[in-house]
Amino acid sequence: MENAAAVHWPGGHRAAVILSFDVDGEYGEVNHRGADDWYWRSNAQYDQQAGIWRILRVLDDFGVSATFCWVGKVAEERPHIVKAAFDAGHEISTHGWDHRYYRDMSVDEQRNDLVRTRDLLEQITGERASGHKTPGWRFSSETINALQDLGYLWNMDYASNDVPFLMAPDPAKPPVVQLPPSLLWDDYSYFVDPIAPPRHAFEMWRDDIDVLRAEGKLMCLTFHPWVTGRPAPSRALTMFLDYVVSLGDVWIARADHLASWWRDAQSG
Ligand SMILES: [Zn+2]
Repeated sequence: MENAAAVHWPGGHRAAVILSFDVDGEYGEVNHRGADDWYWRSNAQYDQQAGIWRILRVLDDFGVSATFCWVGKVAEERPHIVKAAFDAGHEISTHGWDHRYYRDMSVDEQRNDLVRTRDLLEQITGERASGHKTPGWRFSSETINALQDLGYLWNMDYASNDVPFLMAPDPAKPPVVQLPPSLLWDDYSYFVDPIAPPRHAFEMWRDDIDVLRAEGKLMCLTFHPWVTGRPAPSRALTMFLDYVVSLGDVWIARADHLASWWRDAQSG
């Protein structure tokens, strides 16, 4: 599908929104800034201690289902939180074993990392993860091959469009649905590197969904419980959800639900 064409979303919806939450624990900051940087490690430990519980309450208040991308080590340390999110109706997907960047691994190491993380999450939830977002979005050109080989339905790495697209390095196997994220739809861009008031993030996302709704496209946001789960930043999420719900014709979908609809619609 060409980017210019509006998507005919199911149920007469004019646009779609995916809310994805990367549960990095402290490992995103450990990988990025080093294991001895206890200032950032302790900030990121807010993830499991407080942030995720506030996020789960917000999602419950709005009655919406989201997609959680879980780091394997974090799930291993606190499996009951994975189970709590799963039992609340949210999707659980893979986000690397320890948040190492895939661009620094061979494709075999990537495959092992995916399988190890997926198996652990399946032990906790009883359901196999069908989606993956690479830590820090630092994938390699072969990551998509590993995902397709392992039967993944969706990937959220390539920020190169604002509609989903199919990727099939091996044309004989089912394609992977690419769900494009964006630097502008990542809470780090508002609340970590610079510090912005929640209304700034909300205004940006409101203008984004206004444009995408007029064009019939997809907005795929990325949050982190230790970032957006903090008090004021959580208001950016609630203001955005208030707005999107009030539009009345935007499909707020889990990534797996949207991707399986997309793959069927493209091949049908
Ligand atoms: Zn991450």
